[in-house]
Amino acid sequence: MDDYDTVEYEHLHTLSERVHSLGTSRLFAVLGADEATRAAAYRTGVAEAIAREAAALMAAPAERRAPLVRVRLSEPLHQDLLDQLDHELQLLDAPTALLDIVCSAAPSWRWADQHPGACQTPLDPTIDLAQSSAGRDTPAGWVPIVNELHRGLVAEIGPHHVLRADQKAGRLRYSVLRDRPLTDNERVAYQRLTELAVAASRRACEVCGGEVSEPNTFLTRCAEHPFPSVTHVRARPPGWRPDGPS
Ligand SMILES: [Zn+2]
Repeated sequence: MDDYDTVEYEHLHTLSERVHSLGTSRLFAVLGADEATRAAAYRTGVAEAIAREAAALMAAPAERRAPLVRVRLSEPLHQDLLDQLDHELQLLDAPTALLDIVCSAAPSWRWADQHPGACQTPLDPTIDLAQSSAGRDTPAGWVPIVNELHRGLVAEIGPHHVLRADQKAGRLRYSVLRDRPLTDNERVAYQRLTELAVAASRRACEVCGGEVSEPNTFLTRCAEHPFPSVTHVRARPPGWRPDGPS
């Protein structure tokens, strides 16, 4: 990097920003090349940025490491970047205490777009999620189920707020709020649609939405996304961007 780039880079706080900056810088250097070359250049930049962070953490005084890690690994952080940093530190023979700091900085859950392999289908923006904590608890893998349930409910019971669209006992927990009570016909339709959705959720991985052959009463995960090695992964509520996992 030239001096200007270095100054810019040093002002970026998070690992995610630094990785993107260096990747883009490498990409710009080969803009006229074919797609494979450009992709390789970006990956090289990412790898360089991660190697730089690993080296900086190794060189930092012990008491500076924890605060530094907290800043570098704050949102937006992709799980893949964390894995790469961890790998790089292991290659450098980082002390266990440093690896522990990096590990414990990882939040207990992530947004779907921070986790490779998670279902990336966005929640239907017409879902009116009440601004409760439950609004950010929808498992990423169940978004297609929730979106379909929402479409059916709008058709059968009309406009409504969604109070919960989360996981309880390994299955979807969904409840709504209406301005007036449901009629008998609406109640029947509501029960039929939610029961279908709950049954579907018992067979769908909470992370990727893939098929789960053995329903579980704790968490519903496929073989590729076991808990706790894979954290909880949630859908971003439509139009809502809180500070992120903490
Ligand atoms: Zn899965």
